Amino acid sequence: MPMNSDTQNLIKAAVIGHPVNQSKSPLIHNYWLRKYSILGVYEAIDIEPDNFESEVRALIEKGYKGFNFTIPHKDAGMKLCDEIDDVAEKIGAVNTAYIANGKIHGTNTDAFGFVHNIRTCVPEFRFSTGPAVVLGAGGAAKAVVHGLVEEGAPEIRIFNRTKNKAEDIAKKFAGGAVAAYDWDDRGIHLEDAAFVVNTTSLGMKGQPDLFMNLQDLNEKAVVNDLVYTPLQTSLLRNAKLNGNPTVTGVGMLVHQARPGFKHWFDVMPKIDNEMRELLGL
Ligand code: NAP
Repeated sequence: MPMNSDTQNLIKAAVIGHPVNQSKSPLIHNYWLRKYSILGVYEAIDIEPDNFESEVRALIEKGYKGFNFTIPHKDAGMKLCDEIDDVAEKIGAVNTAYIANGKIHGTNTDAFGFVHNIRTCVPEFRFSTGPAVVLGAGGAAKAVVHGLVEEGAPEIRIFNRTKNKAEDIAKKFAGGAVAAYDWDDRGIHLEDAAFVVNTTSLGMKGQPDLFMNLQDLNEKAVVNDLVYTPLQTSLLRNAKLNGNPTVTGVGMLVHQARPGFKHWFDVMPKIDNEMRELLGL
């Protein structure tokens, strides 16, 4: 592209992954760039793990304002940062980086996305109402547990196939009444739960469904699935049949994008109806 004053002033950010063509982030950020008339671009850049550091540093040299890091670069992204904030430190992963004063700053916006999705979809709900049940103990679960602790969930019960990963999270968030449970017991310990969230990949297109007996769950409890392809997972369908309010995962994806957009383009974007239609929210 020939350089002119417009392209020189273009503010650039990107999601870095391998592969990266499945990412919905360019759709979200480029929609906001158009909406707020910002002269900027958000790209999806595929970088192989061996070239990660050199290619990201080359993009910074070219003036990129920041990045989202996705699979398999979440650990490498964290190592690359000069400064990591408390949230990313606690969650143990950086999904958003921005360049300021010549330094790479790393943060994690997944907990923000998780909490704001629930706040938007069920405004009357309070996490402090009762225990939260978390299915899964991978990367997304850490962000969810962080969000739940920050929002004052009185107790957090983590059920994971590999129990020691749930125990590790429980130890990490020891101050927040977090405990690990056997995966096969996920249908029990539900009577007093106010919130149930699936953070496993079960239910995702190409993966087996998540089976869970919701018979003992109070019908006021909110049920959330982080999986968003498909939007209506078997967990959410069962929860609806049980009479529970349900929240899909796509809103978390959009909300987690907002703080990154603010860092790079200096506007805290709002989610409007056109964005909702674009993503089937
Ligand atoms: P991850 O770190 O790989 O963790 C995967 C989790 O799924 C682990 O707890 C794993 O259990 C469990 N799991 C996988 N297959 C299973 C099976 N057959 N039976 C029981 N448990 C199984 O992945 P992640 O990054 O946490 O992401 C998890 C899901 O959340 C993905 O579907 C992702 O798309 C979604 N997500 C959504 C958003 C959003 O914005 N909505 C954000 C982040 C992630 P083990 O520990 O036993 O292997």
